[in-house]
Amino acid sequence: MKPLLTVTLALATLVGLSAQPARRRVTLVVTGGTVITQNAAHTILVPGAIAINGTDIIEVGTPAAIAAKYQAAETIDARDQIVLPGLINTHTHAPMVMYRGLADDLALMDWLQKYIFPAEAKTVSPELVRVGTRLAALEMIESGTTAYVDMYYFEEEIAKATFEAGLRGVLGETIIQFPVADAKTPAEGLARAERFIKEFKDNGLVVPAVAPHALYTNDKASLVASAELARRYGVPMIIHVAETEDEVRLAREQYQMTPIAYLDSIGVLGNTTIGAHGVWVNDADIATLKARGVGIAHNPESNMKLASGAAPVTKYLAAGVKLGLGTDGAASNNDLDMFEAMRQASFLAKHATHDPTAVPAQTSLDMATMGGARVLGMDRLIGSLETGKRADLITVSTRAARQTPMYDPVSHLVYVTRGDDVRTTIVNGKILMRERQLTTLDRAVVIADANRLAARVREAVSR
Ligand SMILES: [Zn+2]
Repeated sequence: MKPLLTVTLALATLVGLSAQPARRRVTLVVTGGTVITQNAAHTILVPGAIAINGTDIIEVGTPAAIAAKYQAAETIDARDQIVLPGLINTHTHAPMVMYRGLADDLALMDWLQKYIFPAEAKTVSPELVRVGTRLAALEMIESGTTAYVDMYYFEEEIAKATFEAGLRGVLGETIIQFPVADAKTPAEGLARAERFIKEFKDNGLVVPAVAPHALYTNDKASLVASAELARRYGVPMIIHVAETEDEVRLAREQYQMTPIAYLDSIGVLGNTTIGAHGVWVNDADIATLKARGVGIAHNPESNMKLASGAAPVTKYLAAGVKLGLGTDGAASNNDLDMFEAMRQASFLAKHATHDPTAVPAQTSLDMATMGGARVLGMDRLIGSLETGKRADLITVSTRAARQTPMYDPVSHLVYVTRGDDVRTTIVNGKILMRERQLTTLDRAVVIADANRLAARVREAVSR
């Protein structure tokens, strides 16, 4: 064996001397930007480069190292840009962009019961959901969101529009006690959810889910049936939890328990549960959420606008609860810009705790990336820029006056960047926006369609 090995080594040396080793062909290289990997060590490469082949990140390294090893079919020059994992919106109702600005400056229960539920009763249709989701997808792609969690009606329309737009989604069909546009009863909703799960369970971008709206809009049977359905198919369950003091009061009156304690007592909480808000929780609730592996979607802007309160972010993080950020529906925010969500998460925590060191910029960015990935149960696939993960990433321009000078890119991402600064959005290795040019959506058509349907919404609510 020994002589043979020597010959092989000698041959390799000869080949190495006579020609450059062949570079591996890959589909895409993003190079030259400040690369914020969001890996466990929080590595930042200045500058860095990312080699992508098909749907996956092949390697992250210096521009020179990546250029030496890979030959790309397409190269994105990211100089003067920050490259980071795509942002993950852990709670929204995508089609509600159609109700943006329809009713503002109200408390949650008034807002829901007097305006949103009646407006939805008159106007929700497959067409409105389709058109609204396309508008939401346009806004998300343009502002750097690459994955999102949704809860709405006609979720199959949302799933189709999300897939066509190229976004990643954990999409939950709503279960609710009163008659809604796509189901007259919770049983009908559950049957619809099951069909939806079967149809989309093998989709590469869409993860179907079941979404009982909240404990105050569902009885025990509906909540338990929703959790059972989710368990049977191994899909997430999405629910609003402990959003307002009113909800806590209701739960205490009806069940003599906090909302979290009640949901736990009926066995619906588990490690694929995504709980939106979690504002009004005590220490025992936080321990329960941690023990059950529930992920929490923190929505600072919606919570502030509806004066719902401030979620105990610092306590959640100290307890090791999976924590992501969300915008909530655009009717209570009023946009889907996750850069604002990061900024407001940081500000709200500081304001609420009277502690300027609470939720620093890095923590907000963590929640919007790896934290969100954990909430979705996808932390092995997305949330950071690392070899073997799906290529979900964005580039952000740093040329604006308000971003000059730049001492700390993470500070800039959280405290000055706006969605409009995003230049390129890539999901699953596919470019959805290149230098602000959309590739999967026709911007003019999406906006014209939304305005056409908005005329119907205006008409319906004025009657
Ligand atoms: Zn919500």
